[in-house]
Formats: sequence, C-alpha cells, structure tokens
Amino acid sequence: MREYEVVVLGAGGVGKSALTVRFVNDAWLEHYNPTIEEQYRRDLVVSGEHIALEILDTAGAEQFTQLNEVYISSGHGFLLVFSLTHEASLHDLDNIRQQILHIKTGEPDVPIVIVGTKMDLYNEREVTRQAIQELALSWKIPFYETSAKKNWNIQEVFEALTKQMQQRYPDA
Ligand code: GDP
Ligand code: MG
Repeated sequence: MREYEVVVLGAGGVGKSALTVRFVNDAWLEHYNPTIEEQYRRDLVVSGEHIALEILDTAGAEQFTQLNEVYISSGHGFLLVFSLTHEASLHDLDNIRQQILHIKTGEPDVPIVIVGTKMDLYNEREVTRQAIQELALSWKIPFYETSAKKNWNIQEVFEALTKQMQQRYPDA
C-alpha cells in the first residue's frame, strides 16, 4: 500500500488537532492539549487506490525550529490551517507556505491544501470566502471551509490533498 506523510500546520488554536482527530477517529472533543504533537495513521481509498496516510498534527508552528524543518522535508503533503474566526491566522499562512517552499526549494507542485476551520461559528466569522479565494488563486492551491465540530468537508480536505500527492509522488 502506498503511504504518504501529511503535515498539519497553522497557528495555535486554529483547530489543527480537532480537524485531525475528526478525520482519524471521527470524534469531536472540545479540548486538546495545545502543546502535544502527535502522529496518526488512517487508510483511505482515493481514485480506486488504497492509501495509508501518516498525519502529523503539529503544535506551535509559529516558531520554526530545526524539528519543523525535518518534518517538512520528509512530508509529502501539507494542510495550511487557519480559523475563519481569526483573520490574523490566515495571514500566518503566508510565512508557513514560504517556509515550506524554501525547504522544498526546486521541487515543483508541492501538494498543499488551505483549510479554513470553525465554519459553524457563523457569528464569529472574520474571514470572507472571497479573501480566501483570492489568496488560494494567487497561490494556485485549493481551499476548503470546514467544521470539525459538525464534520463538514473534513473528508474532502484529506481526499483533495491525497489526489495531489498521488499525482506528485506516484512511486511513494
Ligand atoms: P490547535 O491548537 O490548532 O490544534 O487547535 P485545537 O484543535 O486544539 O482547537 C482549538 C479550539 O478551537 C478548541 O477549543 C476547539 O474545541 C475549537 N475548535 C476546533 N475546531 C472547531 C470547529 O470546527 N468548530 C468549533 N466551534 N470549534 C472548534
Ligand atoms: Mg493542537
């Protein structure tokens, strides 16, 4: 079975753990320890192919350490996660994306998906769909609006990233 490493990146508190645990265990917990960095595994079928994903739920991606560099260089695909309820977390993605492209210098078509979280919190929303669309278009990467709490678009995010990884790394 083909195996891909996925790295989940984004500011603290945006919902990286909630997203990951929703996908891996189909569970919703209100609170995760924000400092814990953990790797999960889940199999899925995409385009008729059985794929194993190793998913690294990172903590504290704001400070890029040596360790982050190791994850990024061994990662096949990246989820850039921000909260729809926190505009600054969208801007943080710029730096994270640049770090990835720097570490992957010279590699074409790095698989990335932008993920806006907490879509269920309508009244707290700060980021318009158009703002995300413009960013995603300029970076030429797909984006999804999701809710881990309501299980909206979670499966779709991982499938979209997996499709990119299948194309980019057919021999992994
Ligand atoms: P992380 O630091 O990026 O891993 O963020 P967490 O996954 O720990 O989530 C931070 C907070 O946001 C927690 O209180 C979660 O319950 C909350 N949260 C995460 N995802 C959602 C969501 O889809 N909807 C709502 N309403 N809250 C969420
Ligand atoms: Mg977390």
